[in-house]
Amino acid sequence: MKSMWIEKADLVIIGGGIFGCAIAYYYSKNNPGKQVVLLERNELNNAATSRAAALMTMVRSKRSYIPLTVETFRVAKEMEEELGETLDFKTVGMMHVAASEAKVKDLEELLEIAKEFDQEAYYISKEEAREKAPWLKVDEALKIGFVPNEAYCDPYMLGTFFARCARNRGAKMLQGVEVLSVIQEEGTVKGVETTEGAIFAETVVDAAGVWAPILAREMGAGLPMAPVRSQYWITERADIFPTDSPMVLLPDAQAYARPEGGSLLFGIREGKSLVASPKEVPNDITDFVFSADEGMDDLVQNGERLARFFPAFYDIGIKYYVAGFSGYTPDSQLVLGGVPGTKGFLVASGCCGAGISVAGGVGLGIAEMASGRSNPLDFSEFEISRFGELDPFGEEWLNRCATARSNKVSG
Ligand SMILES: Cc1cc2nc3c(=O)[nH]c(=O)nc-3n(C[C@H](O)[C@H](O)[C@H](O)COP(=O)(O)OP(=O)(O)OC[C@H]3O[C@@H](n4cnc5c(N)ncnc54)[C@H](O)[C@@H]3O)c2cc1C
Repeated sequence: MKSMWIEKADLVIIGGGIFGCAIAYYYSKNNPGKQVVLLERNELNNAATSRAAALMTMVRSKRSYIPLTVETFRVAKEMEEELGETLDFKTVGMMHVAASEAKVKDLEELLEIAKEFDQEAYYISKEEAREKAPWLKVDEALKIGFVPNEAYCDPYMLGTFFARCARNRGAKMLQGVEVLSVIQEEGTVKGVETTEGAIFAETVVDAAGVWAPILAREMGAGLPMAPVRSQYWITERADIFPTDSPMVLLPDAQAYARPEGGSLLFGIREGKSLVASPKEVPNDITDFVFSADEGMDDLVQNGERLARFFPAFYDIGIKYYVAGFSGYTPDSQLVLGGVPGTKGFLVASGCCGAGISVAGGVGLGIAEMASGRSNPLDFSEFEISRFGELDPFGEEWLNRCATARSNKVSG
C-alpha cells in the first residue's frame, strides 16, 4: 500500500458503500484534474449496500426523496452506456394495495404526487392485480395503485458501477484502509489519519454508513440517526411467483414483497426494531448476529398480517434470511450536508433504508457541495442540525430512531 500512497488530495471520502462510491463518481466527473481518494476499511459495497432488497421506489409520500431517485435512474443509464454493460434493472413496476380507508387516502395522495413529478401511475382492478401477482390475495383491497416504471436492482452491481466509472476518471478507491480520525484545527478540516498514514485534504466527506456518527462526533456533531436492523426473507421457488411480477407494497400489513428469481422476497415490520449504538456495530458486519433464529420469532409474531394478503404464507418454505443495519432518523429523512461551525466536513448518511434508490441524488448533491458549488438538489429537509443537540450513542436517542423504523410502511 505504501508505494502507491497519496499524501494529498482535493477530496477524501470515508467509506466505500454506495454513497461513497456515488460521490467519488460525480466528483471525479465534474472536477477533471482534481484528486479524490476514497478509503474503505473492508471491501467496496460490502456492508449495508450488498444486503439491500434494492427496491428503487421513486414515487413516495416523502417528496424530498423523489428528485434524488430520478437522478439514480438517469445516471444508471449513463454508466451503462459508458461501460457498455447492463445493470439489468428489473422494471416490473410497484403495486400499492390499500385495504383500509386510511390507506386509500394515502394512495390517493400518492397518485397526486406522481402527477406532480410527472411519473406515470394509475389504478388497476383486482383482476389485473391477481394476474400480475398470482400469490397475492386482494379480496379485501379497496383500491390498488400501480406505478409501472419502478424497478429493483442488484445493489452491489450499482455500487460497483459507480466505483468503476469513478476509477475511469482517476479516482483512487483504496480498500483495506481504515480512517482513524479527522485531522482538524478548531473545526477546519486538514485531512484524515488512517491505518496507512495521513492524507491531507481540505474537504472530507463522512460516508461511513451506520458508523458515520463516530467520526462526526470528533467534529462536534451529533448525527441524528442510529443503526436499526432491516430484515427480509426469501421463500422457496414456486409457480405463483413469476419473475416478471411487480413489487408490492402492503401498507395495511406493514409489509412489502418483490420477485426474486422464481421466489418471493418479503419484509414485514416487527413491533420493536433492533437498534445498536454505532460504536457497538462491529467493523465487519458479518460478525454481528442479527437474529439467533433467522428472524423466525418475528415472522411468527407478525406473519398473520401478511397472510391476509398472501394465503400461501403458512405453507411455503423459507429459504433465506437477510438482515443488516441502515441508519434511521426519527423523521425518516436523510442526513446530508455540512456540519454547522466546521469548515470542509460533509456528511452523507442516515439512509433510512432507501440508500440504493437515492444514491444518484446523494452523490450528485454532496459532490457539488464538496466542489464548492451550489447543490442543484434541495437538501433542506436533510440538514444535520435539524434535531438540535443530541447524543447519538445514548439509549433514549437510539430508541427514538428504532420507533421510527417500526412505524415505516413502505419498502
Ligand atoms: C436488509 C436491508 C434491506 C434494504 N432494502 C433497501 C431497499 O429496498 N431499497 C433501498 O433503496 N435501500 C435499501 N436498504 C438500504 C441500503 O442498503 C442503504 O441505504 C445503503 O446501502 C447505504 O449505503 P452507505 O454507503 O451509506 O453505507 P454502507 O454500504 O454500509 O457503506 C459504509 C461503508 O463505510 C465503511 N466505513 C465505516 N467506517 C469507516 C472508517 N472509519 N474507515 C474506512 N471505512 C469505513 C464501511 O466498511 C462500509 O463499507 C436496505 C438495507 C438493508 C440492511
